[in-house]
Amino acid sequence: MNWTQPVCRVCWDERNPDHTAYRLREVGANEICCHCGKHTNSGIYVRIDPKTVPFPAAEDDEET
Ligand SMILES: [Zn+2]
Repeated sequence: MNWTQPVCRVCWDERNPDHTAYRLREVGANEICCHCGKHTNSGIYVRIDPKTVPFPAAEDDEET
């Protein structure tokens, strides 16, 4: 499983009000938030154990 998981802006702010995101990519990629399962293009990724989140992303599969 992939330990780099996409997170939407809402979930990120809820969990990390005082921290910057682990990694930012170009905004525009349509990902599934690993916490709430909604689509997001926040460009925010966190390093997190995929077993601890309800909607873990699979291995890197670049959607084109
Ligand atoms: Zn979310």
